[in-house]
Amino acid sequence: MSHSAPAGAPAPAAPAAPAAPAALELQAVTLEYPDGGGTLKALDNVDLRVPRGQILSLVGPSGSGKSSLLAVAATLIAPTSGTVTVAGTDVGDLNDAGRTALRRSGVGIVFQQPNLLASLTAAEQLVITDRLRGKAGPASERRALELLELVGLAHEAGKRPHQLSGGQRQRVNIARALMGSPSLLLVDEPTAALDTQRSESIVQLLVKVTREFGLGTVMVTHDTGFVPLTDAVAGMVDGRLGAPAHPESL
Ligand code: ADP
Ligand code: MG
Repeated sequence: MSHSAPAGAPAPAAPAAPAAPAALELQAVTLEYPDGGGTLKALDNVDLRVPRGQILSLVGPSGSGKSSLLAVAATLIAPTSGTVTVAGTDVGDLNDAGRTALRRSGVGIVFQQPNLLASLTAAEQLVITDRLRGKAGPASERRALELLELVGLAHEAGKRPHQLSGGQRQRVNIARALMGSPSLLLVDEPTAALDTQRSESIVQLLVKVTREFGLGTVMVTHDTGFVPLTDAVAGMVDGRLGAPAHPESL
């Protein structure tokens, strides 16, 4: 491209490209649960920004608030105070229908247990999520097969959960979370039920889909050995989140 600044005049500053909104932004998020006569702070003034294309590991002891952070980011629980922004949308501005729509297509959620339906094939587990979005038909079926291929299950599309290994079921779970083309992927202890080798390949798969689809991914994990495969790590203690750090810093 040619620049046409007059000779001798200072070149005009290139217009700053508008920064793409982060997949997730939490600002001063606090979540309190009633606890006996008082309250328990599951999240205490949490700030977090997850840009698209990056995967963050979230680590911390049991009860420190990791799943609560994912539930707030998933818009499943409204925080007591603070702001949750998903792909540029302030979740606090949405009504119930808006939050439901955001969960169906803006956010992918992967829990430790795949919760697959026993009677459905791998492909059907994916297609059924499009029915919930009011979509169905050949385009859904094509996308389901493409996603199953992407997660390494091209030959398993017709199998039911009992015909799949634990690692394969978790791959179906991940593919299913991608059906709505989310910008934010929230993953809670995806390797808790898997051996080391399968765990590593699941984390590698999460890194791959994060890059391929430009997702912002938050992965809660107790397997700190896989943290170096991710872009950053942040630790939680008693509802407080530390600043994200280089993954080798653990
Ligand atoms: P983690 O995922 O790190 O183990 P959680 O987010 O599940 O932590 O829990 C954080 C704290 O909030 C814990 O003290 C837990 O007991 C409490 N908690 C979680 N969910 C609820 C709930 N629905 N009602 C009351 N307390 C809760
Ligand atoms: Mg948890």
